[in-house]
Amino acid sequence: MNNKTIDPLMAKIISLCKRRGFIFQSSEIYGGLESCYDYGPLGVELKNNIKRFWWNAMVRMREDIVGLDSSILMHPRIWEASGHVAGFTDPMVDCKQCKHRFRADMIENDKCPDCGGELTDVRQFNLMFKTQMGAIEDAANTVYLRPETAQGIYVNFLNVLNTSRQKVPFGIAQIGKAFRNEITPKDFTFRTREFEQMEMQFFVKPGTDGEWFEKWKAERMQWYHRLGIKEEKLRFHEHGKDELAHYAAKAFDIEYEFPFGRKELEGIHNRTDFDLKRHQEYSKKEMSYFDDQTRERFIPYIIETSAGVDRTILTCLIDAYEEQELEKDTRTVLHLSPAIAPIKAGIFPLVKRDGMPELAHKIVDELRTQFMVFYDEGGAIGRRYRRQDEAGTPFGITVDSQSLEDHTVTLRERDSMHQERFPIAQLKAIIQEKIDSVN
Ligand SMILES: [Zn+2]
Repeated sequence: MNNKTIDPLMAKIISLCKRRGFIFQSSEIYGGLESCYDYGPLGVELKNNIKRFWWNAMVRMREDIVGLDSSILMHPRIWEASGHVAGFTDPMVDCKQCKHRFRADMIENDKCPDCGGELTDVRQFNLMFKTQMGAIEDAANTVYLRPETAQGIYVNFLNVLNTSRQKVPFGIAQIGKAFRNEITPKDFTFRTREFEQMEMQFFVKPGTDGEWFEKWKAERMQWYHRLGIKEEKLRFHEHGKDELAHYAAKAFDIEYEFPFGRKELEGIHNRTDFDLKRHQEYSKKEMSYFDDQTRERFIPYIIETSAGVDRTILTCLIDAYEEQELEKDTRTVLHLSPAIAPIKAGIFPLVKRDGMPELAHKIVDELRTQFMVFYDEGGAIGRRYRRQDEAGTPFGITVDSQSLEDHTVTLRERDSMHQERFPIAQLKAIIQEKIDSVN
């Protein structure tokens, strides 16, 4: 990423991510691979929790949406039908002098922004990654890494319809990796060439699409509120006619106020019957739906909600980050929602003797059947609390000498730093209640 213009808050977030094991640069020991990132021990927990939070809201808690996990490699004709082979391009220019490549629409005058050199004419650059399937390298077996998960859903429309007992209106949800060979990836994990999407395609009767669009727009904004993102940092942005994709009749973005500007977090699109019609045309398979109550046959319209896992993680980290001035010092704390916090509780014996570590381990064993917990006996208790504040852990549980006598512990709450004694037997219920209160 471009270090010249890095925002101070972003620099702190990136440093925290590396220091605490949320996110690492990919292939770091080889000098790194630009725009690819690895999720460390805390990062993968956060990622799994966010995906689960989405899946629960979009699939588990609903009767009208089912899940899918389609393959990344698909028949190349799919990308012809979808319009990606012909139209999924960015205008690109190269600097004749330093050979750097830029998106033509990012260039302000006709000179190279890096060296002032002369630029080539604009060429169209397809953003799909190509690879070869099978042993023979030949144009006939070129396949693509999918640039979106949506098409895997459309081409399974009939399979799901015929096996799930769903009736229109209903949705299909999928979480999975997608790949785009961006000319200028940037802003840490915000725009990367390999990323993960959480997409839901909702199939509706034409004419009811406007109403469903509004429902999903409201529903998806609600989801970010429940996730704990500050409401004043979120807003809708409607795509003007010039911004609309070729398939969309209407599109709204949910935007977040990042340190590097207001940017799209999620798109809600009315894709009309474009996708199913195109797949019907290219595959020669009938994609219409027969409504046996009204005796009508139609090709469903699709309302799409398309969110990025990596962007959501970045948003949660930025939104939760605080450097708090205390009486004697400053603490760094991540106010992550308990539902998505990587570790739910840190468990600390006050000292490393008198049976306190043994009792603390017993508590760990009891809690870990239900939650991700972390045992720490190293260093002063205050420092152990701070380490967990920085990891976003909502609870600290301390075993002291009184615990050995009456089986109570101190429970410290991350945000308020309030401490209170509770019986060990109540811990599970207290932590679960906190998680459920936002789920
Ligand atoms: Zn140049």
